[in-house]
Amino acid sequence: MAECTDLSISPSDPPLVAIALGSNLGEPLQQLRAAVKVLGQRPGINVLACSPWYCTTPVGPPQPNYWNGCLVARVQLSPWALLKTLQAIEVQFGRQRQQHWGARTLDLDLLLYGDRVIATPELTLPHPRLAERPFVLVPLAAIAPHWRHPLLGETIQTLREQVGDQGIIAVLSDDAGETTFATAADRPPPEPR
Ligand code: AMP
Repeated sequence: MAECTDLSISPSDPPLVAIALGSNLGEPLQQLRAAVKVLGQRPGINVLACSPWYCTTPVGPPQPNYWNGCLVARVQLSPWALLKTLQAIEVQFGRQRQQHWGARTLDLDLLLYGDRVIATPELTLPHPRLAERPFVLVPLAAIAPHWRHPLLGETIQTLREQVGDQGIIAVLSDDAGETTFATAADRPPPEPR
């Protein structure tokens, strides 16, 4: 899908939101692609752009590598209704909340909801760790580089340049169907002859 360049928010428009997707259990890429489809089929959610998928090293306890991506959508749901929808889809995909920052079949985080700022334990916007995570900023900058962080005032592209590429192992573009590895060391060994 193309970069989402129309980031203007007016009161009459349905708001634009950015959602992060991640998975490191089961069949991560299949689950992520299916989750984008399920999200787009929900009433009140119109998916406009989806990033490539990035293979990333895990944060937290030892666990398999993640696949991460982001999407931008227009929604006709309140921030809280959207969060509930995301949590219901996580459960639909077999997510069980066990260990903090532990492995999961599907993780959906609401990163940005227009320029809304909300600070409650149930829902914090912008997402509190958005500005420090390469595995969120790298995919988000691929589809929404000009979106300005409502609290920091910086664009997503600037924040992405500040955090760098640490932990990004490979990128898979569904459009090109090609995996590019960050370093030769990350490439899987060739098949034995
Ligand atoms: P996690 O286990 O990382 O998916 O965290 C989920 C918890 O964070 C839930 O209790 C949510 O209510 C809460 N939360 C707060 N802000 C957000 C947000 N912007 N997106 C997703 N979950 C959030």
